[in-house]
Amino acid sequence: SKSYKEYTITSDGQLMLKKADSDQIETVWERYENQLPQCGYCEMGLSCRICNMGPCRIDPFGEGPQKGVCGADADIIVARNLGRMIAAGAAAHSDHGRDLVEVLADVAKGKAPGYSISDPVKLKKIAGEYEIETDGREIPAIAGDLAYAMMEDYGTRKKELTLVKRAPEKRREIWRKAGIMPRGIDRETSEMMHRTHMGVDNGWQSLLLHGMRNALSDGWGGSLIASEVSDILFGTPLPCANQVNIGVLKTDQVNIIVHGHNPVVSEMIFLACQDTDLINLAKLKGAKGINLAGLCCTGNELMARHGIPMAGNHLMTELVIATGAVEMMLVDYQCIMPSLGKTASCYHTKMISTSDKARFPGMEHREFHPENSQKMAQELVKEAVEQYENRGKVYIPVEPVQSLGGFSVEAVTGALGGTPEPLIEAIKAGKIRGAAGIVGCNNPKIKHDYGHVTLAQQLIKNDILVVVTGCAAIATAKAGLNAAEAIKYAGPGLKEICGALKIPPVLHMGSCVDNVRILILASALANALGTDISDLPIAGSAPEWYSEKAVAIATYFVASGVYTVLGPMPPITGSMNVIKLLTQGLDDITGASFAVEPDPEKAAILICRHIENKRKALGLDS
Ligand code: SF4
Repeated sequence: SKSYKEYTITSDGQLMLKKADSDQIETVWERYENQLPQCGYCEMGLSCRICNMGPCRIDPFGEGPQKGVCGADADIIVARNLGRMIAAGAAAHSDHGRDLVEVLADVAKGKAPGYSISDPVKLKKIAGEYEIETDGREIPAIAGDLAYAMMEDYGTRKKELTLVKRAPEKRREIWRKAGIMPRGIDRETSEMMHRTHMGVDNGWQSLLLHGMRNALSDGWGGSLIASEVSDILFGTPLPCANQVNIGVLKTDQVNIIVHGHNPVVSEMIFLACQDTDLINLAKLKGAKGINLAGLCCTGNELMARHGIPMAGNHLMTELVIATGAVEMMLVDYQCIMPSLGKTASCYHTKMISTSDKARFPGMEHREFHPENSQKMAQELVKEAVEQYENRGKVYIPVEPVQSLGGFSVEAVTGALGGTPEPLIEAIKAGKIRGAAGIVGCNNPKIKHDYGHVTLAQQLIKNDILVVVTGCAAIATAKAGLNAAEAIKYAGPGLKEICGALKIPPVLHMGSCVDNVRILILASALANALGTDISDLPIAGSAPEWYSEKAVAIATYFVASGVYTVLGPMPPITGSMNVIKLLTQGLDDITGASFAVEPDPEKAAILICRHIENKRKALGLDS
């Protein structure tokens, strides 16, 4: 059998895998190995089950069938499958955004006790972008109008989404010219499902172009709304210290974990955990207090805004339960393995699902709605406290690592003295060669955290400023790279700049919907230089991606002009035409393309080369 070091680079992961083995807990890695070898047709994107004349598959060796029952060839099948992945990813983020807009609407009506407008300045700023009158008006009235206007962006009555105005004009012209300007958030996803129905769009190029538009409707629509409305409701993140890894769990406190994505639930749990009566109850039960920690993106949301500690990323979710130290885990939606209920049944951990959209085996369903959230959160935290006395033996094998989070665009420009100018000057002077985003998930196909951490280390060593979100941000935080002390790993120029600004060389920009913050920062840099995003010395990467959301994110990055390197290969190798378009042809349309490189050291070379080429084209080093 493999050594635990072959599964994960993290010491908490290795030690917990050993514990899980001795407790006979099945993990994601074991299930992955049980699936091997995975279906070669599906891996190449060559299987289709879109209609009931199928399922069909194309023989990649050219000996068996080259067409499905309907006549679709490899190019069409691969493009349709990819299109549906983008649609699912865009739908997930954008529906998350819609849930926040609904809370905003309820706050405006006074029907969401416990929720409030935490950032009225941002509310007014965005209301202005939607051309809503703000002068002399009450905050709830503005919030109500903004929620309504944002809902309109989800529909189909527009030619262009409202917030695309934030992209540089040159970029918007590119989208108009290519016919990929997003019109409505729901519209583009719905149209993708229509186009990929049997007998509709059978042009693999037009399908992929619509994929771009669908992804843009997420990046400049649903995800952007999710990120901005979260700031309005819960506060725009500012740099704050926090702790990460499984060591954030406490042996002598009630441990509550929030897992999932939408801060609508986790923020209410956060507030309930501050309740003096509940803290006193925990003390009565023999605990020293209530310790709230996060997993995955809802954890990132709480970490960025309140410095709440982070227990781990995607592949750690089963192992966190195996500590035996978690009284309750509350989940909302996305990236929550359906295995978790079974894992928890071996311990005293209470598993609670909270969204009307997401049910899981072995979890108790307690639905949160804006009107009952506050009360529900109080009840659940009380139940978690009562669960403390049922705790058995616990195993928390490591000490937590210190990190910094909360680098919103506002915080980054704040750290720079209010404008992106110092960053531009440092890039022009060559002290910082450029910037790269490392984003996305974990995937058992890649050694856990190895892709994220190695790539970040290589890039900062080469004076490239790194921004991180999602599970990637948690990986680099656990490796100590999101702390100011990490400048010791940076090249001399980056070290000088980050040292002077007292910021880490790897900036935690938030959750996966917060990838839009990277787009906004890139737009600000491009606008300040009077150029387009695709001219900047920047790049994106998703070294350990697994989810459909990551496909949508990577696509909106490329469609926005950002060269993006993927770790795991997407299921497209069945079509050379699709591969060529995505890795080369898109350069002529959007000014950027994809690359795939599972080895993070080689991915770093690709990114450094790209950044140096862009510098040369801008005449920065002449
Ligand atoms: Fe087969 Fe065509 Fe139906 Fe796909 S859409 S399952 S290729 S018949």
